[in-house]
Amino acid sequence: MSTFQAPKGTYDLTPPRSATFLAVREAIAAPLRDSGYGYIETPGFENVELFARGVGESTDIVTKEMYTLTTKGGDQLALRPEGTASVLRAALEANLHKAGNLPVKLWYSGSYYRYERPQAGRYRHFSQVGAEAIGTEDPVLDAELLILADQAYRSLGLRRFRILLNSLGDKECRPVYREALQTFLRDLDLDEETRRRIEINPLRVLDDKRADVQKQLTDAPKLRDHLCDACKAYHEEVRALLTTAGVAFEDDEKLVRGLDYYTRTTFEFVHDGLGAQSAVGGGGRYDGLSEMIGGPELPSVGWALGVDRTVLALEAEGIELDLPRTTSVYAVPLGEEARRVLFGVVTELRRAGIAADFAFGGRGLKGAMKSANRSGARYTLVAGERDLADGVVQLKDMESGEQGPVELAEVAAELTKRLG
Ligand code: ATP
Ligand code: MG
Repeated sequence: MSTFQAPKGTYDLTPPRSATFLAVREAIAAPLRDSGYGYIETPGFENVELFARGVGESTDIVTKEMYTLTTKGGDQLALRPEGTASVLRAALEANLHKAGNLPVKLWYSGSYYRYERPQAGRYRHFSQVGAEAIGTEDPVLDAELLILADQAYRSLGLRRFRILLNSLGDKECRPVYREALQTFLRDLDLDEETRRRIEINPLRVLDDKRADVQKQLTDAPKLRDHLCDACKAYHEEVRALLTTAGVAFEDDEKLVRGLDYYTRTTFEFVHDGLGAQSAVGGGGRYDGLSEMIGGPELPSVGWALGVDRTVLALEAEGIELDLPRTTSVYAVPLGEEARRVLFGVVTELRRAGIAADFAFGGRGLKGAMKSANRSGARYTLVAGERDLADGVVQLKDMESGEQGPVELAEVAAELTKRLG
């Protein structure tokens, strides 16, 4: 071990577990790619103002969790705590919304940073795969995203996840509800910080995790009773589309989520095997965000799924992904001459598209065969001086144990045939 360790709240992804991470990212991305979402990548940091406006001055993310820094040039930057604001900023900057092809559908995958209290499933550096559909108000689009997330989780074999669904209303009905809620909350017995929150973002008080607060909220006015007709109809349509698609969901009228910019459809994916950090993903509609960051009116919807917690969910369900072996052929040379010849064979195999690896460092047969086993290779190639003199290598099938000589010039063709 070196004197250094990964910073607090972070961890390294190392083989073999790292392969599961890659597979999870891929499983979430695949349904998006197949549904017209294009890949977008944005910088790991942005002007801090983008998040202050785009995530919300009153959110925990902005007030407590953001890593901010001042550059030598005096710019105020922040490591990105989430993806949506950056993706929308980039789409506007590239004028993607002006190409006359709305919605602009994008997906992303990357690292996010939040200064949080580290615990199981909650880290300071974590990974998300996300999707955004920008510029269209259509309940089918909301349903599409929910269905694709459901499909992604199912493709991984996950079963113990649930979709929680709510509507947050729009700029017509939300303000009326907000006032009714504030009036109710002001009469409760709450601490100073929560009282301040009532004035800045009262909906977030509903999200308070403390039992004594939740008890007082039992009779809080419900957003559902305040939704305008347009929001009600929109929400009913999303629900009907999910039901038709056979995607189960639970109505959760207390679901408000951490970010300020959500309107109408709001949802969270939770997994029942994760303890306190149960949210594996979340998202919703954010019709006002574009204008908040200086763009035109662009009603949009999106989600972000946490890769770290999805991997924990797989482990909680005892699911081992059926990952393809990475190495198909492992070459073991015995002696100097064999080293040169077999390395040539390995190079030839790789160029032919066969995943091959090699016993480096001139090790003995026993140790090298151990590595061959560990690599998971289906076949090994062994050659010593006598084999080379005969112009052959020994090809061993690691599953059946069968072994026999193959002409040097025929090795690539023979392995291509056998590996299908
Ligand atoms: P939580 O309520 O657990 O703090 P959140 O509402 O802050 O979650 P989002 O901003 O919606 O989370 O991010 C989407 C997903 O990213 C979450 O559902 C979760 O899976 C993951 N995520 C968020 N913060 C972290 C973190 N600190 N460590 C690991 N994963 C995280
Ligand atoms: Mg959070």
